[in-house]
Amino acid sequence: AHDIHIIGGGLAGSEAAWQLAEAGYRVRLSEMRGGGDMTPAHQGDTLAEMVCSNSFRSDDGDSNAVGLLHREMRTLGSIIMREADATKVPAGSALAVDRDLFSGGVTNALANHPNITIVRERIDTLPSEGMTIVATGPLTAAGLASSIGEATGKDALAFFDAIAPIVYRDSIDMDIAWMASRWDKVGPIGDGKDYINCPMDKEQYHAFVQGLVDGDKTEFKDWEKDTPYFEGCMPIEVMAERGPETLRFGPMKGVGLDNPRTGRWPYAVVQLRQDNALGTLWNMVGFQTKLKHAAQVELFRTIPGLEKAEFARLGGLHRNSFIRSPELLDQQLRLKSAPHIRFAGQITGCEGYVESAAIGLVAARFAAAELGGRTLPPPPPETALGALLGHITGGADAASYQPMNVNFGLFPPLAEDVRKKDRKLGYTQRAGTALAEWMKAAEGVAA
Ligand code: FAD
Repeated sequence: AHDIHIIGGGLAGSEAAWQLAEAGYRVRLSEMRGGGDMTPAHQGDTLAEMVCSNSFRSDDGDSNAVGLLHREMRTLGSIIMREADATKVPAGSALAVDRDLFSGGVTNALANHPNITIVRERIDTLPSEGMTIVATGPLTAAGLASSIGEATGKDALAFFDAIAPIVYRDSIDMDIAWMASRWDKVGPIGDGKDYINCPMDKEQYHAFVQGLVDGDKTEFKDWEKDTPYFEGCMPIEVMAERGPETLRFGPMKGVGLDNPRTGRWPYAVVQLRQDNALGTLWNMVGFQTKLKHAAQVELFRTIPGLEKAEFARLGGLHRNSFIRSPELLDQQLRLKSAPHIRFAGQITGCEGYVESAAIGLVAARFAAAELGGRTLPPPPPETALGALLGHITGGADAASYQPMNVNFGLFPPLAEDVRKKDRKLGYTQRAGTALAEWMKAAEGVAA
């Protein structure tokens, strides 16, 4: 007998199992690897396997959003952070681990917990009853993926291949770029100045197109070769390869965009569209790419106005499934149409090991409170946990929802008068206070 069923023993499911077990609830953890099934990216059968890099990224909790997330997770007794700290390898200010020791440590901790039963089985349909957390990740097995599709509506399971970079608004040079919509067209909620426009002259444009054609690209893995490009999501370098004018008649067309500094349309343009409700993040329209990250940074900083651009996310290409969380999930990560089911991890539309584990942690805390007949309020948006959760359950536009790493652009802005050099510390100090207050309130809920 168990109190809760967790499907998927990856980064999110392992963290969720630990949190619930530590809270005194009996967990059944179903993991298909080790039971005759495999995903296209995993290599073995340990829980919490890191499929690609061995890094949990920056561990600087004072000035980095993912470092802050580490800190918050440690405060909340995360097994992922405990085992990462125990197995770390030298990597500057990043937290990198010995991947085998790490996942071995997580597997042992869970296997030895009296409240956890690990079952090596593949689940093919969403359970019709009983409290459940689905944490099957970006490579959810096909049977369960279609069951989720049925429960959430036909097009609810979004597949995509290429994503476009996102730039921090305050790193864009607005002495070069300007705000305008094409033909000054006023949209339903805009003022006719909705886009940031970065102008290019003829010479700059052709040098840029050549840079795309020559740039270092990520190669497809075998299992990715059959995946078609997502409709309307052609990588920009593939368009560039079709001919020097293709982009100028596509996403980079300058028509209808009067540059106030010249009074004319630019030869070509790069447009950025607001990406979050706060207006701190802007995505490069039509700039999905599989250029390698270093090549993206180098080339995109040749765009006038983006010379000093800082990227909240770079473009990338990999096959990925996730649900339209802002539309489908409530504030407690429950499926609105079947509230005994919660989702956690990358399938909710966060991106990265740490973020996935963090959402596993939050989902488990919500579930534990509910099993105890109480409701835990979501962590406040000033915390990294709350900012990330806000992206999933509310902040983003459901129609254009895309997975995202945690970053300061997801946090409510600081007061205007905080100086630029003090801003990161401003975010992290404010987060510390907010987390402490939330934990105090949560104790009240638990009592
Ligand atoms: P996972 O860790 O994938 O765990 C899901 C688990 O569910 C798996 O163990 C799987 O076997 C199991 N499962 C699936 N379906 C079923 C089923 N029907 N029944 C039972 N079990 C099932 N993030 C980074 O931070 N750094 C990287 O370098 C990185 N590289 C990546 C490379 C690739 C190719 C991919 C696909 C993703 C990469 N990611 C990376 C993102 C990474 O997947 C997530 O960060 C993280 O692993 C997701 O955690 P999760 O718990 O949501 O899913």
